[in-house]
Amino acid sequence: MAGVIRRLDETVVNRIAAGEVIQRPANAIKEMLENCLDAKSTNIQVTVKEGGLKLIQIQDNGTGIRKEDMEIVCERFTTSKLQTFQDLTAISTYGFRGEALASISHVAHVTITTKTADAKCAYRANYSDGKLKSPPKPCAGNQGTQILAEDLFYNVPTRRKALKSPSEEYGRIVEVVSRYAIHNSGKSFSVKKQGETVADVRTLPNASILDNIRGVFGNAVSRELIEVGCEDQKLAYKLKGYISNANYSVKKCILILFINHRLVESVALKKAIETVYAAYLPKNTHPFLYLSLEIAPHNIDVNVHPTKHEVHFLHEDCIVESVQKHVESKLLGSNFSRTYFTQTLLPGLSVSASSEVKPSSSTTSDSGERVYAHQMVRTDCRAQKLDAFLQPKEKAAVPVAKSPGTSSGEAGISAQLSTIDVDEMDDAEMLEALTGQEVGGPQDGGIANPDLPRKRPRTGPEEKEDLTAAATPRRRMIKLMSVKDLRAEITEKTHKGLQEMLQNHSFVGCVDPQWTLIQHHTKLYLLSTTKLSQELFYQILIYDFGNFGVLRLSEPAPLYDLAMLALDSEESGWTEDDGPKEGLAQYIVDFLKKKSELLGDYFSVEIDQEGNLTGLPLLLDKYTPVMEGLPMFILRLATEVNWDDEKECFRDFSKECSQFYSIRKQYILETEPGDEQTVTDSEMNSWRWKVEHIIFKALRSLFSPPKHFSEDGSVLQIANIPDLYKVFERC
Ligand code: ADP
Ligand code: MG
Repeated sequence: MAGVIRRLDETVVNRIAAGEVIQRPANAIKEMLENCLDAKSTNIQVTVKEGGLKLIQIQDNGTGIRKEDMEIVCERFTTSKLQTFQDLTAISTYGFRGEALASISHVAHVTITTKTADAKCAYRANYSDGKLKSPPKPCAGNQGTQILAEDLFYNVPTRRKALKSPSEEYGRIVEVVSRYAIHNSGKSFSVKKQGETVADVRTLPNASILDNIRGVFGNAVSRELIEVGCEDQKLAYKLKGYISNANYSVKKCILILFINHRLVESVALKKAIETVYAAYLPKNTHPFLYLSLEIAPHNIDVNVHPTKHEVHFLHEDCIVESVQKHVESKLLGSNFSRTYFTQTLLPGLSVSASSEVKPSSSTTSDSGERVYAHQMVRTDCRAQKLDAFLQPKEKAAVPVAKSPGTSSGEAGISAQLSTIDVDEMDDAEMLEALTGQEVGGPQDGGIANPDLPRKRPRTGPEEKEDLTAAATPRRRMIKLMSVKDLRAEITEKTHKGLQEMLQNHSFVGCVDPQWTLIQHHTKLYLLSTTKLSQELFYQILIYDFGNFGVLRLSEPAPLYDLAMLALDSEESGWTEDDGPKEGLAQYIVDFLKKKSELLGDYFSVEIDQEGNLTGLPLLLDKYTPVMEGLPMFILRLATEVNWDDEKECFRDFSKECSQFYSIRKQYILETEPGDEQTVTDSEMNSWRWKVEHIIFKALRSLFSPPKHFSEDGSVLQIANIPDLYKVFERC
């Protein structure tokens, strides 16, 4: 039996068509965002309820819609942007088919409130099935447009059922808004759930693209980005963007692609780029890219799919290949520059050395003679000794906070290395500071970090997980004046003679944890390990500001307990007049929790929601501070740091932290008389190893000794061989 072919009811046709254009809330929002941008808005606020299914509200401050146009804006093929077919080939606005609003009004209840600059008041109107329900009513309102779409797909149950959970839809909405926000830096965007006061993504009007990437995706990505950009006259395209370097990877490729300012996908381009990265990234990991491609409008066919996701263009293969080449060259470039730093700049350290000291390693190879391992003799004081490779088993470095008054069990804190972040770039920047020479190009883009702690918007649930997973933090550039000042102070105070001496010394041995002997030329010196190590850590804190790896505590340490331990100790100077210890301890916890964002972001001092300390900065590879100093450090953070002034705050923090990290008397495990046998050799020697192979190694290369060290007893000359000869001659 043949079926009867009937003409579909027009409203049904419209609904089906609308469902094609608007497949999910995020599509509707994308269309509406583009309308806002077309209307020259600079501030766009998105609010949604139940993942946009219940309600979508978009408020902008653009040109508004004229009252006489309100009647037809929701009809199909009404647009203020396209007059003739020829226009299609030269469009520069997003919308062009007059389909979006019409489609939305076929599958949702739409309310538009809008005011143009010259209208005396705003007007509000409701729409259903593409038609105005009643004449626009005057109302109060600022210039711009607010579009409200409620009960999306209320009349298309199949489409509604096909949608995932509200939270997943919300995730997609946040993704779309944040991508447009990144691309449209200079304009502010926000997206939040109805009823919430805090936006999940918010960008500021004066933020740069990098600021916005940082705001949305976090530091871990933004600090690893390389700026890209190229232009090709022949292919008539222009590329701009940021791509992650070879140090960064995520589980899923993030390619934010805008073509002619429209968020699109291009399978071809993604594939091409993934091939490039495959050579640089660990298996099964992927890059992050934000690319903005501008292609001559006549080369592009935008009218390709109702959702306009896919864009095709003329010479697609050539353009994709050209972009691919550019990305590869940038990636390679960033690699080369890193190798360059280590190979040619480190010897620069000995520039200031006197001519007697020859730089190491310039001999052997070109003489053609083979040198066997057993013939090797260490002739250069800077060459490593064998025991440098034999770090003692770190019993003492899995430290136990053993303070008066508590059993070590409950406050036991052990640290383990989680990330190690002392890379060549760090050396380069330190060198820059030490030598006063510019050594690094601005190749890592530079991330402006304009103000003090700024609330970082939360990211969408998906990205957040991905980005913390495989991120290898690398260097981020710090542009804070306060930090620059502090760095300048260090350079200005440098004692060049001492610096040369430290760079070229021979390590003699440790007297005790506080004192070390070194030889330089014919002289023997006694150095205060405590003072030198403290100053070293201070300088590292200032130079590596915002770029530390994290020493993660194997168990979170409650700040409260730490503060109580500190208050119980004599050193704290607590008296009854100060009030009950419990109250003070709680105050310290609350206070530091408030500072946790700054502490974490700039200094890798990690504090969790519950008020536990979970991480400390990794200042030198393989070096952990003695945890006995931790309680006092925590107490002093709350009491000795001037938190009101940016520069003073960073200085004070670094002073306190460096004191905690410095090598001090405590390093000898305190033992009861007759108890010595419990301290094993390796524990006893662990600090010795650290002093020689970590501290004094760093003092060679990463240190600008201040002038006062030559006067305050930190460095003492105790013998000079020629003088000794004279003594012997007399005998
Ligand atoms: P198109 O964007 O393709 O022109 P739409 O259906 O998206 O079609 O929008 C229809 C018309 O409604 C637009 O051409 C524009 O004149 C008007 N419009 C929609 N949203 C806004 C807005 N936020 N501000 C000003 N005008 C708008
Ligand atoms: Mg539009």
